[in-house]
Amino acid sequence: MSGSWEAVIGLEVHAQLLTRTKLFCACATSFGAPPNTHVCPTCLGLPGALPALNGEAVRMAVRTALSLGCTIKEESRFARKNYFYPDLPKGYQISQFDEPFSEGGFVEYEVEESGERAKDAPPVVKRARLTRIHMEEDAGKNLHDLGGGSVVDLNRAGTPLVEIVGEPDLRTPAEAAGYLRALRDVLVFLGVNDGNLEEGSFRCDANVSIRPAGSSALGTRVELKNINSFRFVEKALAGEIARQKDVVESGGRVVQETRGWDEKTSSTFSLRSKETAQDYRYFPEPDLPPLHLDDAFVATLRASLAETPRVKRERFVAELGLSPYAARVLTQHPRVASFFEEAATLGRDAVAVANFIQSEVLRDVTTRGVDASFPVTPGQLVEILKLVSQGKISGKQAKELYAKAKGTTASPAALVADLGMSQVSDPAAIEAACAKVVADNAKQAEQYRAGKTGLFGFFVGQVMKATKGSANPQLVNETLKRLLGG
Ligand SMILES: [Zn+2]
Repeated sequence: MSGSWEAVIGLEVHAQLLTRTKLFCACATSFGAPPNTHVCPTCLGLPGALPALNGEAVRMAVRTALSLGCTIKEESRFARKNYFYPDLPKGYQISQFDEPFSEGGFVEYEVEESGERAKDAPPVVKRARLTRIHMEEDAGKNLHDLGGGSVVDLNRAGTPLVEIVGEPDLRTPAEAAGYLRALRDVLVFLGVNDGNLEEGSFRCDANVSIRPAGSSALGTRVELKNINSFRFVEKALAGEIARQKDVVESGGRVVQETRGWDEKTSSTFSLRSKETAQDYRYFPEPDLPPLHLDDAFVATLRASLAETPRVKRERFVAELGLSPYAARVLTQHPRVASFFEEAATLGRDAVAVANFIQSEVLRDVTTRGVDASFPVTPGQLVEILKLVSQGKISGKQAKELYAKAKGTTASPAALVADLGMSQVSDPAAIEAACAKVVADNAKQAEQYRAGKTGLFGFFVGQVMKATKGSANPQLVNETLKRLLGG
């Protein structure tokens, strides 16, 4: 019996919607502002203040649900979830409970298996079902050990969230990490969330249980709270699964409880048990009417959806000839993907564009949330590659030219002239350079002719060195082969 256990994992994700203002008031949703500067009677919960629903938050939530294949409910309702906590000035959170705006749906995700799998193998794609997506407001933030005690910042109180509740379809920590990455990609490409786990705008709780492998029964589940990095997701889940196995195999029983992850000890610890679980006394929010989403509204949003990052990756491979690896790298961020697409449209060779972005441009790209800044424009990049394909500069010179064009609006073609850069494609000049290298290295030439063909690269290198990388490589290869009699 020992060892043959299977884990059952379901994830709940809270994602902050990138609206300008909060869910029920006109306060700004900025991160990092001085504490308690983005507050008003509504989000402070002062008596008599009334909530008014943010239309942009609704549009973002519906687009999220449509992208994930959910069914949109024509009528849904907000409810009050009552509990006391210092960061919740109203004494309740406005959420959706028994009537969420969407149900069903799924996340298609790729499982990154560590180790042996070739980096260019097509990804293993799996699908996990969603239970529902609903809207709710965020609480404020308690800050401890500041100024000798605990303080509260209510800037975040009332920020719009979607809660994305997954079915317990995941079986391994690697699947859970793949699911989370895929979900974050969808949200970031939609422009509804910045995908930042560390700053808490994309938060994950996990329900974990184990059962004998092959069984369809569900074991007692433990909830893991607030896992704030992709690295921790797999470690925290693996740690919790191992703990549950130890408990069961030593004759104990897993207790239903909420646990946290301690990075220092690489183990989970109990936060609270089920016996002390709260009764939230949900009831319909009396200050908000039911939410109606008619067919025309939903159809307009459906029509506005862009392709999901996974569909984009498949298209990059099938239509543009990219490797699965390159497609994955270029869809890491929506702005990187659109930079590549713009350059690939302007240029003729999508693969050459992809290669140059990966080898040169990406290391100079900085991303911040859904924004990114690029060292050159797609137009400059395509111009550089065009100079290469026309034989005017070498691949090596393209890299130098790129370095010169970085951060400028200069035309690479003009820079080529200014820098005196041009590829030597003159057969006579190349012949002379090759002949000199062969003559200067008579011993190696003799060895090459005697069968040590691995020396060919040495000769190419010498010619390139002599011409400072400006010789047309194809011509150098041909000329050297002829001169060496290879
Ligand atoms: Zn407010």
